[in-house]
Amino acid sequence: MNLQDRITEVEERLSQACRRSGRNRDDVKVIAVTKYVSLQTARSVVEAGYNRIGENRWQDVRPKWEVLNEERDDIEWHFIGHLQTNKVKDVLGKFSYIHSLDRLSLAKELHKRAERMEQKVNCLVQLNISGEDSKYGIEPEELFSFVEQIRNYPAIQLSGLMTMAPYESEPEQTRPVFRRLRELRDELNERALLDYPITELSMGMSGDFEVAVEEGATWVRLGSLLVGKEL
Ligand SMILES: *Cc1c(COP(=O)(O)O)cnc(C)c1O
Repeated sequence: MNLQDRITEVEERLSQACRRSGRNRDDVKVIAVTKYVSLQTARSVVEAGYNRIGENRWQDVRPKWEVLNEERDDIEWHFIGHLQTNKVKDVLGKFSYIHSLDRLSLAKELHKRAERMEQKVNCLVQLNISGEDSKYGIEPEELFSFVEQIRNYPAIQLSGLMTMAPYESEPEQTRPVFRRLRELRDELNERALLDYPITELSMGMSGDFEVAVEEGATWVRLGSLLVGKEL
């Protein structure tokens, strides 16, 4: 399949998932994950209208970031991978959102460097809802105390929550994970631990995005299905 065919398929499936769940297509934003493709393909994806780009390693995205950022100023970069504390200095100021805030030591470093740059850094708290050892993220039970401590780092602006569901051959199996993330966001807002509401739910990938949309995803992160896989 070429890019145009993949876009047609993804858009059709997204629209259907929105229709099934009574949501507006405009309320679900696609992050095109370009980690499996070349700079040329990433450029085609942006030219096709997907200007939210997700990547998970600075070493890998760097050449794309440098070239595409030079070429255009309308790309919104999302850092979606595990972020080592010593890499904070590389990504800060280049990515609009960090989806992988999963520990206080990282919050502290993000805050310290953002404050020094007189900037805010938009973050999503990554949760490990399934409890798999292989997954990063804080446990759901820890979320509220984690957020309370984040208030000590005012350069951090919490935009939402992020999770990855376990791989399932039957996507329907992922539903409880996505539903839990939505409930946690709603409860966080009800408790008003922050003086602003958090809105975003970054959940759903190529194999399970329709279920995530049905459960309220505001951002789906699509790599192989939308952008393809060449590297
Ligand atoms: C790679 C990656 C994706 C995209 O994966 P696909 O299954 O190819 O859509 C989404 N989110 C994260 C955090 C990733 O690392």
